[in-house]
Amino acid sequence: MYHTILVPIDISNPELTQLVISHVEAQVSLNSTARVHFLTVIPIFPYYSSLGLGYSGELFDKDKLKSEALLQLTEAIKDFNIPEDRIEKHLATGAPKDGILKLAESIQADIIIVASHRPSITTYLLGSNAAAIVRYAKCSVLVIR
Ligand code: ADP
Repeated sequence: MYHTILVPIDISNPELTQLVISHVEAQVSLNSTARVHFLTVIPIFPYYSSLGLGYSGELFDKDKLKSEALLQLTEAIKDFNIPEDRIEKHLATGAPKDGILKLAESIQADIIIVASHRPSITTYLLGSNAAAIVRYAKCSVLVIR
């Protein structure tokens, strides 16, 4: 039984989210005190800064991006049949795998539930974020195929 469940959500790939829903619900139904932490990581900032484009207002509005990401995360969570008082939402920026591993540590996650990779991509069995989570997380990881 897991108490603190971390579910990283890639809001740009809803098909990945669909894969994990029943598994997250099953874990929640096993433990009446379980809490689910949903996290989405916006990968754009370091990418742009690495291109030397800076954070200028003309390119994109950081706050707007964040509030839109939070809205999309809220929408994605609606597909999960989990009581609202058992849910927490988190937003981070940077490399998804780093944000996921960092949050797992800070909330002391008991388990991370992820999809293995986008179903549309059949050339590999484990995406780069899923692979890093399996390799570096200190807690259990449930990888859905
Ligand atoms: P792919 O390379 O096929 O997209 P990934 O390893 O990136 O595969 O995705 C697998 C899982 O990693 C997703 O189901 C999701 O849980 C997590 N993930 C990927 N990108 C993000 C992101 N930006 N924010 C939160 N979680 C993510």
